[in-house]
Amino acid sequence: MIVRNAEQRRDVIEAGKRLGEVLEKVAKATHAGVSTASLDALSEKLIRDGGDTPAFKGFKPDGARSPYPATCCISVNEEVVHGLPGARILKEGDIVSLDLGLIHDGYVMDSALTVPVGKIAKEVQELLNVTQESLEEAIAVARPGARVGDISHAVEETFKGSGFSIVKVLGGHGVGNSVHEEPFIPNVGHPGMGPEIVEGMVLALEPIANAGKASVFVAPDGFTYKSKDGSMSAHFEHTILVEKNKTIVLTRRPHE
Ligand code: MG
Ligand code: MG
Repeated sequence: MIVRNAEQRRDVIEAGKRLGEVLEKVAKATHAGVSTASLDALSEKLIRDGGDTPAFKGFKPDGARSPYPATCCISVNEEVVHGLPGARILKEGDIVSLDLGLIHDGYVMDSALTVPVGKIAKEVQELLNVTQESLEEAIAVARPGARVGDISHAVEETFKGSGFSIVKVLGGHGVGNSVHEEPFIPNVGHPGMGPEIVEGMVLALEPIANAGKASVFVAPDGFTYKSKDGSMSAHFEHTILVEKNKTIVLTRRPHE
């Protein structure tokens, strides 16, 4: 969507703030010994307690056979995105990607982070660090007059020499009126190419990367993307509002 007036601006800021607060609480509850289903239940409770609606529950992504059945996409370790919450109990050394969307006053927000469970391997922490850093680099170039390719390139550059692999089949997108809007925002690309970024755009930027090779496949459940080589995968996402003089990270978490 494109924010066209002060009322819309106020509403998307409020929507993003709410999602940032909820996601931070769910991240804090992500410990060894808890099930992914309990994190999903917490996500839904927090969203509904705020008077809002989960954005992903009942949403049918392109290519999926049926609507997504849960509130939070929870992807553990080699699961890349769109993992299904369930009976799985988290354990020390796991990494957990929490991807959450909510609808506030009709506006859709989308944000994700990958949380370490207790002590994780150094290389895996590095994967998290680089992926998170690439999101910040992407946010920094999302300015009016820039191109989608500038964002893609900023992510790609951040990974250069890291040994990690960007998952190229997944990427960011416009958001706000619905979960997935134009433009698609790849995480690899060339500066100066692609659609222009304009003032008022609400975009979800989301680098996704594997510790090993880039290839992914969809598991038999029809939703969960996994890395083909079984390597760990990280995902960081924010919804931003592009303004003339600054870009607002709508879903920034309170203690991020
Ligand atoms: Mg998301
Ligand atoms: Mg997204």
